[in-house]
Amino acid sequence: MNSSDTEILRGILAQHGFTRADDPAGADVILLNTCAIREKAEQKIFSRLGEIKALKKTRDSERMPVCVGVIGCMAERLKDQLFEQKVVDIVAGPDAFRSLPGLIHLFTQGRDGEDNDLINVQLSTEETYADVRPVREVGAVSAAVSIMRGCNNMCSFCIVPFTRGRERSRPAASILAEVKQLHEEGCKEVLLLGQNVNSYADLSGSERASTGNEASTSYYAEGFSSVYKPRREGAIPFGELLEAVAKAVPEMRIRFTSPHPKDFSDEVLQVIAKHSNICKNLHMPAQSGSTRVLSGMKRGYTREAYDALVERARALMPEIALSTDIIVGFCGEEEEDHQGTLDLLRTAGYDQAFLFAYSKRDKTHAARHLQDDVPQDVKMRRLNEAIHVYKEVLTARNQAEVSCRHLVLVEGPSRRSPSILTGRTCTGKRVFMCDEEVSSSYGPSQPRRSAARMQPGDYVAVDIISATGSALQAKALGVTSIAEFVDLHGSTVVSAQDAACQPPGLAVAAYAEC
Ligand code: SF4
Repeated sequence: MNSSDTEILRGILAQHGFTRADDPAGADVILLNTCAIREKAEQKIFSRLGEIKALKKTRDSERMPVCVGVIGCMAERLKDQLFEQKVVDIVAGPDAFRSLPGLIHLFTQGRDGEDNDLINVQLSTEETYADVRPVREVGAVSAAVSIMRGCNNMCSFCIVPFTRGRERSRPAASILAEVKQLHEEGCKEVLLLGQNVNSYADLSGSERASTGNEASTSYYAEGFSSVYKPRREGAIPFGELLEAVAKAVPEMRIRFTSPHPKDFSDEVLQVIAKHSNICKNLHMPAQSGSTRVLSGMKRGYTREAYDALVERARALMPEIALSTDIIVGFCGEEEEDHQGTLDLLRTAGYDQAFLFAYSKRDKTHAARHLQDDVPQDVKMRRLNEAIHVYKEVLTARNQAEVSCRHLVLVEGPSRRSPSILTGRTCTGKRVFMCDEEVSSSYGPSQPRRSAARMQPGDYVAVDIISATGSALQAKALGVTSIAEFVDLHGSTVVSAQDAACQPPGLAVAAYAEC
């Protein structure tokens, strides 16, 4: 979210004539876009402010004083502490980016000071920055498009509803226009973003007729509920937006994050299953494998309901890759609850998991009403056990990928070596392959064309040749497209068995080490 917000912020500043400096020392304004979800992220910002303080001191006295701003979630949460640092000049919350040019102007006029803090941390119920054209890296293969902001869920451990405010969705028409433009500019993948992305509900076209069941619990996945009853009459829901985007740009991959499991209704799952360009990796944050702990977390579902959702998703899309967030050591978590979480990690079969030990966040329900009673050493032990189980499962899942065939979107040279390219499968798996010449065509009906080097943004058919716990190594077979690969194989993932029966002309004689 924060990277996308930074791009939006760059868009706003560009509209007001600001240009990007090459480094902090050359800048007249330094803005730190912050996250408050975890304490560690906040600590990093305070240490960064220490570095900036030193930089401020060595500033050439001939130049205007550098203006330092802290923006985003942390700004909202810790505004007083930030000003106490004596290095911060401006504080602006995530809904106040539009006021930054004005705040910077006031700073240049010398209008800051003890009684005149330059601050705007007002949260909005409407701001979506729908009309702002984000300034992105030129030529990027992938782009993030913000579709909604805020979260209404009020999970008991989470600070986000306090720092990001209530849910609001951007009009679908503006999202579609931005995605189409990205496609025309050569972008190959779009990441639809929102704090609670699949709770998206565009209410801007209120003339739409109600379908009658928008406010009912059937809007949610079976067995899931929410204390908050959102207004849905006449809204364009997430599934409909997703389908419209998928149809508008069939050769562009579509990902989305970060969802809540309750909003994976059957309709949403069916849309994901139906369109080959919607990636088959779902983030399903479980948080815990214990119904008792889930209740304390106010997540709105039981372990059984979560398991059933995973089952429904896998029944519809056997190739699906799942990822999750897990918190261990939450208030009142007993050993039995922890065993439930380990069991979930073993049985759900995650391809990615973000595992954390619980840390109390001020303002939240848990901080105010629950006892943070799991000792730190127990939290750490449970975290290590969870990591161990997850890694075991992941290694086995990656090993099972060997000999499977995937459609990979090439991102560019890897950090390991310029001679190794990296990209991701439709299931979100990181893949590495030699930067070598491959056929510029793939399907058997295509005439054999000359060999060519793979380029960032190419879709290539690959066979997985080996796997570790963290990545897959692949052999590229040829440049292709989503439509061609799916026409040929029926899916963007081909099992090892089916890949072995590959059509004539696609056999690979040997795999070279690069
Ligand atoms: S759904 Fe996610 S962002 Fe919203 S309150 Fe819960 S954990 Fe926080």
